[in-house]
Amino acid sequence: MIVENLKYLRESIERSCVEANRKPEDVKLIAVSKNFGLDEINTAFNNGMKNFGENRAQELTAKYNVLGNKVAWHFIGNLQRNKVRFAVQSADIIHSVNSLQLAYEINRLAGKINKVQKVLLQIKTSDEETKSGIEKESEIYDLVNYCKEYSNIELLGFMTIAPFTDDAVLIRDSFRFLRDLKDQYNAKGFENIKELSMGMTDDYKIAIEEGATMLRIGSAIFGKRDYSKEIMRL
Ligand SMILES: *Cc1c(COP(=O)(O)O)cnc(C)c1O
Repeated sequence: MIVENLKYLRESIERSCVEANRKPEDVKLIAVSKNFGLDEINTAFNNGMKNFGENRAQELTAKYNVLGNKVAWHFIGNLQRNKVRFAVQSADIIHSVNSLQLAYEINRLAGKINKVQKVLLQIKTSDEETKSGIEKESEIYDLVNYCKEYSNIELLGFMTIAPFTDDAVLIRDSFRFLRDLKDQYNAKGFENIKELSMGMTDDYKIAIEEGATMLRIGSAIFGKRDYSKEIMRL
């Protein structure tokens, strides 16, 4: 199933890129493997997947302890401060930085292991209460500038989750907001802010049209998640 899903998805992404006048190699596919186990990850890996996304620090660590840096790990979930060390130890990129305190802690712990932690800032781009991320312009500005000062953090771009809706207009607005934000910072001289992590199973085509450079896709690759299952413990 995973093999067929990947084949279909890659073709679909490529088609969307061509239609949007974009190069497929500019859009990185991250397989969101949360709630799936090592077998599924290995199947995807053996079919050319290199990037995997996890949203819980302990689940990520359990998988990292087995697979290590054979794959590139992306931390995409809400990160509590007491779990930061797990993410810093294993994640290639942390997509979900949403406060000064969190950036401070990431910088501090990355420094301890001589790592420059690549991060994205998670931005709230819709009115949905459940979506976490920074919203206020001044907070985004402060955080971008703090990240620039921190020597053990490298800020690569922005991440967002579109609203949960069937309304394609609202989804597009959300992605467009993120792209505009990037363009504004590029114009201000922050040329290293290049990445836009946006687009999931139900909205990746719109995300590609709006400039996504990283797609975080789970169900379209691995199938429906069963949250009642405990996957891996530390
Ligand atoms: C689970 C998750 C995804 C993937 O969702 P699918 O709809 O299964 O593709 C992407 N991003 C985040 C932040 C997630 O938590």
